Amino acid sequence: MKKHIPIKKFSQNFLVDLSVIKKIIKFINPQLNEILVEIGPGLAAITRPICDLIDHLIVIEIDKILLDRLKQFSFYSKLTVYHQDALAFDYIKLFNKKNKLVRIFGNLPYHVSTSLILHLFKRINIIKDMNFMLQKEVAERLIATPGSKLYGRLSIISQYYCNIKVLLHVSSKCFKPVPKVESIFLNLTPYTDYFPYFTYNVNVLSYITNLAFQKRRKILRHSLGKIFSEKVFIKLNINPKLRPENISILQYCQLSNYMIENNIHQEHVCI
Ligand code: SAM
Repeated sequence: MKKHIPIKKFSQNFLVDLSVIKKIIKFINPQLNEILVEIGPGLAAITRPICDLIDHLIVIEIDKILLDRLKQFSFYSKLTVYHQDALAFDYIKLFNKKNKLVRIFGNLPYHVSTSLILHLFKRINIIKDMNFMLQKEVAERLIATPGSKLYGRLSIISQYYCNIKVLLHVSSKCFKPVPKVESIFLNLTPYTDYFPYFTYNVNVLSYITNLAFQKRRKILRHSLGKIFSEKVFIKLNINPKLRPENISILQYCQLSNYMIENNIHQEHVCI
C-alpha cells in the first residue's frame, strides 16, 4: 500500500509509539456490547488493537483516503464507518438507535478538539465517557483550578459536567509527523449520581462566565456590574474586587442561580 502523506489541515499526527498505544487501550478498556465511537481512526493505531477486543466499533473520519485504507484490514468487518466531520455526526441519533450510553474516544484532531469537546458537552446525557488525546495546553485548561492562568470558561464548563482524570503524559516523539506540542491523554466521565455543582440553567452559567472572562484583567464588579450589584456579591460571599480566575465553579453557579431565582433578564441569554 502507498505511503500516506499526512494532511496538515486535518491535524494528522499519527500515534506510532507502541507502548503508549498499549496503555491507551488498557485505559479505554473496551467491553463487548458497549457502544464505542472512535473519532479520527487515521491509520488505525488505536482502531486495530481495540478491534482485537470487541465485535463492533463506530469510526468517524473526515479523510476519505484514510477511510479507504481501512478496507485492507481484516477487522474492517467490525467497523461501521462514517465519512464525516465529527462535529456534524448525529450522536443523539446513535444513542436513540442503540438505547445505550455512548463511549467516545480518539487521538483528537487538535485544531478542532476544543469545539468537539464543547459540542459533546451539549449531548452529555447520552455519553458514558470520553477518552481523548489532547494537546497538553488544552488538557491543562480543562483541569485548571481557580488561581491558575489557565483557569477559564473551558475549565468551568468541563468540570461542571465531568470528572476529569489525567491518564498519561505523551511526548511529541510518540507521533509521526512529530507535532510542535506535547500531549495528554485523559478521561472525562460525566457526573450521573453525584453532581458537585448545580445550576438551574447551564446557558446562564455559560453567559456569566463568558462575560467575566471576556476581559480577564477586569474585576467582577466591573465585568459583571451590569447584572449584579455590589450588595449581591456581598450577599453571596463573593468579593467583587476579585478577578474572574479567582472565582470557584461553585461561586459561578451561585451567581447563575441568583440571576435565575431573581429573574434578572439579559439580552442574549435564555433563562
Ligand atoms: N487515531 C489516529 C492515531 O492515533 O494515529 C489518528 C489521529 S490524528 C491526530 C486525527 C485524525 O482525525 C486524523 O485521522 C484526521 O484525518 C481525523 N480528523 C481530522 N479532522 C476531523 C474531523 N473534523 N472529523 C473527523 N475526523 C477528523
